[in-house]
Amino acid sequence: SQERMPVLKRNDELGELVQNFNQMLDRMQAYIQQQKQFVGDVSHELRTPVAVVQGHLNLLERWGKDDPEVLEESIEASLQEINRMKHLIQEMLDLTRAEQIDVQFPNEVTNVNEVLNRTISDMRMIHQDFVITYNDALKPDTMIKMYRNHLEQVLIILMDNAMKYSTDRKELIVDASTEEDKVEIIVQDFGEGISPEEQKKIFNRFYRVDKARTREKGGNGLGLSIAQKLVESYHGKISVISELGSGSKFKIEFPLLKDEED
Ligand code: ADP
Repeated sequence: SQERMPVLKRNDELGELVQNFNQMLDRMQAYIQQQKQFVGDVSHELRTPVAVVQGHLNLLERWGKDDPEVLEESIEASLQEINRMKHLIQEMLDLTRAEQIDVQFPNEVTNVNEVLNRTISDMRMIHQDFVITYNDALKPDTMIKMYRNHLEQVLIILMDNAMKYSTDRKELIVDASTEEDKVEIIVQDFGEGISPEEQKKIFNRFYRVDKARTREKGGNGLGLSIAQKLVESYHGKISVISELGSGSKFKIEFPLLKDEED
């Protein structure tokens, strides 16, 4: 591990340089630590599906030739696990890409009204068992500086979760409004809700409130980390208000594009 430079007790340029150098080193070390943690988490997450596929291949090797039932079940279960892994790998790629967005570069300007209308009508089409209400209080042509597909991705993550963790009330409310200097979008569900202790952790990579149950629902615990990374890359904010048993509200905010930037 790298050595920090001895701190000089001087207020001149050299003292400042050493201080900057040490801060840079600390940031680098924190980053390396994060990457190590990520590789560890990924290995851990991949171990279960790999073990499941391995188990089924062992069954097939021993009994598959003689027992058509084993053959069918094991192939089906393995394909399902492989699909899960594919999904996990795609989400990990999304997360890595979300971490690499550089907002310094000039980027796309997105019409929030258009994206919301399109995404909500798509979601209504795909999930016809849900009632999705859209309260549109956006000014016409509300523009933000963000790639369109990134805004879509965040909305889809939040709406997907709202439906995945719903209970018997199959209802969703989306509110959107243009404020003084920002746009606010709220996705509200009436599902199982999240306790205050869990609320602090749900944005962490790979975090799931109920590991066993969300695995059934296909969750990897990456959706909200991707959403948070995307939102924050564009100087936005994401937050949650929730009560166990009565539902959740996820709010995202983005700075509005100023007129002179048009
Ligand atoms: P996952 O792919 O598992 O859904 P997320 O990162 O999107 O991962 O969410 C992390 C965890 O937060 C979920 O596993 C779930 O327990 C909880 N969660 C997320 N959204 C909601 C919601 N709308 N209602 C209740 N719980 C939620």
